[in-house]
Amino acid sequence: MDHEYELLLEKSRERNEFIKRQMKYLGKFNNKNFDHVVADFNEEVFAEIDCLKCGNCCRTIGPKMSGSDIKRACKAIGRDPQRFMDEALVRDEDLGWMCKTMPCPFLREDNACDIYDVRPNDCDDFPYMRERGIQKALGRLAFNTEFCPAAYLIAEKIIERYAPGITK
Ligand code: SF4
Ligand code: SF4
Repeated sequence: MDHEYELLLEKSRERNEFIKRQMKYLGKFNNKNFDHVVADFNEEVFAEIDCLKCGNCCRTIGPKMSGSDIKRACKAIGRDPQRFMDEALVRDEDLGWMCKTMPCPFLREDNACDIYDVRPNDCDDFPYMRERGIQKALGRLAFNTEFCPAAYLIAEKIIERYAPGITK
């Protein structure tokens, strides 16, 4: 991972308790246009962050996969879906199919994804900042700040906008 992103994650870890508290506090409200504001923050942050210099979600969390995600991915790489599921995946009752071990088997050394064009929807959505009703899901954002430099920067932008003046 790029050193700059390691430093962001270090900062994120230092501020983790504070971020969790703020996200919990902000989750009690229902601010008008919150989803749109956060979607804009998401765009601003990802215009600056280069995931190819990071890859930390692919190394540490990995995707939740649906049956169609698996079929699509296996078709792209010419693998038998059942065999792939047996060898590389494990079923979580709540989340669906997950990687048995990390990093994700599709992650290349250079942080590129072997199946980028047909990657699971979960990978495309992460860190889930373009969803509706995001204000009720800020606990998940706080969790993801521990792994994702972009999520951390988005959380700081939310705090700066909605809880200004509270810095720690
Ligand atoms: S499928 Fe690709 S984008 Fe998704 S976690 Fe694996 S390597 Fe990363
Ligand atoms: S989504 Fe976040 S954790 Fe994943 S590669 Fe991009 S910056 Fe890193």
